[in-house]
Order: sequence, then C-alpha cells, then structure tokens
Amino acid sequence: MYKFPDNAKDKQEIKEKIRQICASNYSYRDGRILNSICSEPLDIAVWAYKQMLLSNLGDTRIFGSLKKMEQEVTAMLGNLLHNNSAAGNIVTGGTEANLLAMYVARQAGFQKGIKYPEAVASEAVHFSFNKACAFLGIKLITVKTDENFQVQAQELESKITKNTTAVIATAGTSETGTVEHIKETGEIAKKYGIYFHVDAASGGFLLPFMEDAGYKSVPFDFALESVDSITIDPHKYGMSVIPGGFILFRNRELMDYINFESFFHGTKAHTTLAGTRTGAGLASVYAVIHSLGYKGFVNNTKLIMSRREMLVNELHKRNIETAGRQDLNIIMVKSKDPVKIMGLLEKEGWLASVSKRYNAVRIVVHRHNSEDRLKEFAETFMRLENTLGKRI
Ligand SMILES: *Cc1c(COP(=O)(O)O)cnc(C)c1O
Repeated sequence: MYKFPDNAKDKQEIKEKIRQICASNYSYRDGRILNSICSEPLDIAVWAYKQMLLSNLGDTRIFGSLKKMEQEVTAMLGNLLHNNSAAGNIVTGGTEANLLAMYVARQAGFQKGIKYPEAVASEAVHFSFNKACAFLGIKLITVKTDENFQVQAQELESKITKNTTAVIATAGTSETGTVEHIKETGEIAKKYGIYFHVDAASGGFLLPFMEDAGYKSVPFDFALESVDSITIDPHKYGMSVIPGGFILFRNRELMDYINFESFFHGTKAHTTLAGTRTGAGLASVYAVIHSLGYKGFVNNTKLIMSRREMLVNELHKRNIETAGRQDLNIIMVKSKDPVKIMGLLEKEGWLASVSKRYNAVRIVVHRHNSEDRLKEFAETFMRLENTLGKRI
C-alpha cells in the first residue's frame, strides 16, 4: 500500500525514480511498435510545447496571444480541408472533438424538436462515440461493415428515423484504416436534413496529401457540401505532442451551440469541455504546420505509405495473407491464431494488436518503423506463424 509521504525526498532521488519508470516503457525509436497511431513528435513540436507549457488556454485574458494562435491554426486547418470560414477549437484529442460534434448535433436536433436523439454510423465507428453518446443521452445505432470493412450505406439509410440527430462517417477507421463512403453517407444525411460529422482523427493528416504523394484518395472534407464538422488529430499523423486534437465546424453558427459563459465580466465564454488547460499542445501544432508546410506533409505521407506498401509485399512474398483493402497505413494480417501470435510477437519485443471484431492482426506502419525493421518483422511473423498449430 502507498501512503502519503511524511518527509521530503531528495530531488535527485525523485528524478532517478521517474527515469527508471520511463525506462521500462517501449520506445518508438526501436521500431518494434506496430500498434500505435501516435509516434514521436517533431523536435520543433516538443520545443514549442515546452515554451508554452505554463500557459492557460482557459484564461485567454492573461494569455491573449493563444486566442490568436488558435484562430490562425483553425484557419490553416480549415484552408487545408477546403473551408476558409471554418470555426474550431484545439481540444485534447479525437475523443473530445467527437464529443463536441455530437453535442452540437444533439442541440441542433433539440431545436428541430427531436426528444430522443439517435446517431447512426457503421460498426467501425470509434468507441469515443460510445462515450460521447453515453454522456449526451444519444442512442448510437450501428450497421455491419462488408467484407472490405466498408460501411454499407443503404443499410445505414434504413436505420434513419425521425429521431436521428447525427450521421457519422469515418475517414480512416482506427481498426483497419478504411476510408468509409463519406460522400454517399453525407448525401444520405442531407436527404433527411440531418447533421453530418466526419471523424478524420486518423485520416486527417494523411488524406489531404495522398494524391500528391502518389496514392489514391477520395474527398472527405468540407469540399463535400454535406459535411458539418470534422475531427482531425494533430497528435496522430500530425506529429504534434499529446494532447492535441482539433474540432472544425463548417461555420461559426454551428459552433455557437457550444458557448458556456463564465462567472466573470471580461472572461470569454468557454467552447470546449476542458476548462483550465495548457496551451502547449496548440503551440506544438502551430510549430509543426509551419515547420513542414504542405510539402513536408506530402513527404511524410509518401514515407508512411511507401513503407506500408513495402511491408505488404514482404508479407505476401512469405505467403502471409492480408485482408480487405488498404486505404491508409494500416494492414490487416491473417493468422491461424491472431491472439496467440500477438503474444508470441510481444515476447520478442514486437507490439501488434488484434482486432476483436475482424479477428486479424492489425499492423500500423508509422514513421518510427524503418524498412529494415519492417523486413525483420515480416520474417519474424512468418517464423512464428509456422510454429502455430504444430505440437512441440
Ligand atoms: C484516435 C481516434 C479517435 C480518438 O481520438 P483520441 O485522440 O484518442 O481521443 C477517434 N476516432 C478515430 C477514427 C481515431 O483514430
């Protein structure tokens, strides 16, 4: 049992203890982490984070410059996502962004007279929507995906009722990296006058650069008239420091639904869930965007996608099969026993995950996985797969 300490410890001792705690974790740099959508942030992002660590985004009277910075980042991201009049907020991550979007959708629904709000999505919708809908009293209704892990839009349409207050589509699902049929789903939502949210927490910093990186892409952002809001996560492929998520609304009017006045004259209303919070994440996003620019992100996308392609080839060469289509950098690898092989891999220092829904090994290829490491992984996977089902 831990007790609240009686006496002060020496600072050196405390630092040593914290170093020890950190040393037992995996390191991205080692290249064996294959289960993470996050990676090591850029140096400039860490620098900016430290600069602003002591700031408070909850009080933009003291830290007025942060409000301006947030407006600039919102405008830049809006511009990237084809909407120069987008409104938005930096938040703690995709979870908070999705919660805020569902809040706005629910309020808009209330205004139309909906009493028992429902949201409709594919089953691959991120579990942050389970949280958001539980918190907001929205019933989440999902439809099965097809053999390519893709949403069945007609099936989804059949679930729409007079209570539907939001339709959700995912631009890069967490499990398989599938970019769902955003355009079709959005058109269905608008046919019934329903709020349409796109969760691009995973795809948001890859898809806009995909075509220039030489890969296929589909429209997923405000270029589609149906899209009311977008979640995009700088702390994933945006190479920023955690926590850093972003919610963007098509216009100011939508965001005005989230407006919570403070007690005090002179203090601005809050438009996020979190109140007192550091502006460090914002500074880090600002730094990354300016340090890479569009071209830098194209190169990043090229790097990640080419390594994914390489790993798919290395696996196929060894007769290891993959499942479904691959829209982003995630690979679904078939195995005789996915959970078992995950354990065997972990014993050798590799972290992979297994999708419960699709029962396949899920590999996320990221910046921190070098080509050599990925080849080594393919070889290791084949060796371990060959031991499965054999009695020793
Ligand atoms: C990661 C992710 C989320 C949740 O974002 P957090 O930053 O973990 O809160 C939501 N949706 C998708 C598609 C994601 O990949």
